[in-house]
Amino acid sequence: MEETLERLVADVPDFPEPGVGFKDITPLLADHAGFAQVVEALAAPARDADGAVTVTKVLGMESRGFILGAPAALHLGVGFVPVRKAGKLPRETHAVSYSLEYGEATLEIHTDAVAPGERVLVIDDVLATGGTAAATIELVERCGGVVAGVSVLLELGFLDPRSKLPDTPVHSLLVS
Ligand code: 5GP
Repeated sequence: MEETLERLVADVPDFPEPGVGFKDITPLLADHAGFAQVVEALAAPARDADGAVTVTKVLGMESRGFILGAPAALHLGVGFVPVRKAGKLPRETHAVSYSLEYGEATLEIHTDAVAPGERVLVIDDVLATGGTAAATIELVERCGGVVAGVSVLLELGFLDPRSKLPDTPVHSLLVS
């Protein structure tokens, strides 16, 4: 897995602004074997020791969380919920604002997307400061749901994202 990610995730310096190092996952998405391997691995934390699926939804954050989360949901045989940027969802939403590694953002979820007591797995590509994942956990909790875990392809450990997610199991395929 580590070899796949190191080969297929490109390091792009100074994007989207000087001083920021960006992890580009598009070469991985273009590689069928690598993409399939990663989707299966991202979904794995939603299974117990016997292989039974322990969540009823996968959530993905706009936009790369959609690309990875939707196939993971199909792989697990559960539904997918998009967590979107402000103003994109057409019905009643919960909204949470938070700071990004670069800038500010608001995320929204449909209020009926997660039922009270429902257990979900959150999937995204990169965990940087942890702000996006923390906001998503808050959205699930506002619905009355429970985040069973956060599953990401890459964790930027030097930004200490886990300090923002103290009560949630975090599963990273690669920590850099
Ligand atoms: P955080 O909120 O943890 O600081 O940032 C994570 C969010 O920003 C994720 O939704 C992720 O898609 C995006 N992001 C931040 N840095 C990178 C990066 O270097 N590469 C990619 N692909 N996404 C990033």
